[in-house]
Amino acid sequence: MGDDLMDNIVSLCKRRGFIFANSDIYGGLSNTWDYGPFGVEFKNNVKRAWWKANVHCRDDIYGMDAAILMHPNVWDASGHIKQFHDYKSDCKTCHKLFKIADLNPVRKKSPKGKGLSNGVKDKNICPDCGGKLTEARPFNLMFKTYQGVVEDKASLLYLRPETAQGMFVNFLNVLDSCHPKLPFGLAQIGKAFRNEVTPGNFTFRTREFEQMEIEYFVHPDHADKKLEEWIEDRFNWYINLGIRKENLRKRLHGQDELAHYAAACTDIEYKFPFGWQELEGIANRTDFDLKQHGESSGKDFRYFDTESKERFYPYIIEPSGGVDRTTLAFLVDAYREEEVKKRKRVFLSLHKDLAPIKVAVLPLLTNRAEIVELARNICQDLKKKYFCVYDDTAAIGKLYRRQDEVGTPYCVTVDVESLEDRKVTVRDRDTMNQDRIGIDKLKDYLKQRLAG
Ligand code: ATP
Repeated sequence: MGDDLMDNIVSLCKRRGFIFANSDIYGGLSNTWDYGPFGVEFKNNVKRAWWKANVHCRDDIYGMDAAILMHPNVWDASGHIKQFHDYKSDCKTCHKLFKIADLNPVRKKSPKGKGLSNGVKDKNICPDCGGKLTEARPFNLMFKTYQGVVEDKASLLYLRPETAQGMFVNFLNVLDSCHPKLPFGLAQIGKAFRNEVTPGNFTFRTREFEQMEIEYFVHPDHADKKLEEWIEDRFNWYINLGIRKENLRKRLHGQDELAHYAAACTDIEYKFPFGWQELEGIANRTDFDLKQHGESSGKDFRYFDTESKERFYPYIIEPSGGVDRTTLAFLVDAYREEEVKKRKRVFLSLHKDLAPIKVAVLPLLTNRAEIVELARNICQDLKKKYFCVYDDTAAIGKLYRRQDEVGTPYCVTVDVESLEDRKVTVRDRDTMNQDRIGIDKLKDYLKQRLAG
């Protein structure tokens, strides 16, 4: 069932312009995907919903957009050059490459920044052919590149493996320009790159992906409490946008799986067709990053509390989620199949804020110029407020099916009677109920239902 569901979703994504295999005409670049016309709208809506909840609706968080390329000292200070590793092993017989964390049934996560545990050492048999595996070797996940015309050590740069560091290194700039008081946070959405040993499961694990990260600076005494608050807050964000509660859970990290900078971490996991998997990690990063950058740059990264006259390194609570994984989870959760009049109906029951198209305007007959003109005018007018499309390239049944498959909440149909009574039919995606609405009332009708 799981495999079938994923196959159906991958096929829908291609058929309906959500997600295409990258460089498809050349055989594709493995595990790299491109978002098509509706995929980009959908993904942008996920990002918009996150930004609204975490930046616009709060008084204590500032947005940021830092560059992908950063000074190499950043990755030295952060510990990524030394410790941002996965462990890999090859089969001596079939030469297949494995990520050690995938072979280890005890450990669910990669041991980034950690030595090998006993569980890892035991696993030296190839699960595919039974051959012997080589000794586990660390493998740094950062992509390298060069700045300028000479490719040497001095020009070596890294593609950022997380957006977080762009916020830490701007901590003093934000203090100086915005004068925030603790607790406050920075939020950023952007690309990150990891040379993953075993990418896969469609857009779940890729080498190029987007993150949505918050770095929330708190007094060290308040870190535990704020961590709990953020875990609840982030969990509810997914639920409020329609993820079914039974498909979401929290998982506390064991001490042996924490990243080198973290004192505690809880993952929010989604029940994908291929198993429970992380959507987001919410970690207590302690004062590790600010201290490291302070020491490495020679700048004073301590915060001065004007009331208590205390100077200290704030702790950082970091809710760090993946845009692509989250988008995939919303897609999987919204996928529905049902039988209507002995035919299969496929639709995406997406939250209205996330649906790529909000309204489709469909003329019932295209051989009457007045109907086409009226439908086009209605669509043009609605476009000022919503992403709205006009479509007259098939019979109405087929047009409805197309819109169902991309999750369009409302279809507006213009027919011969509309010319007389100045009314249109509005069809609801989930219930398929139809309302006859005056054209002059249409905007109000949609406003009540699409407000968000
Ligand atoms: P995993 O254990 O799955 O490798 P992680 O714990 O290393 O993930 P983090 O470093 O906590 O991930 O990154 C924060 C978020 O970024 C993850 O929760 C995930 O949503 C996203 N992310 C990380 N790596 C990838 C990837 N290779 N592809 C897509 N999203 C990713």
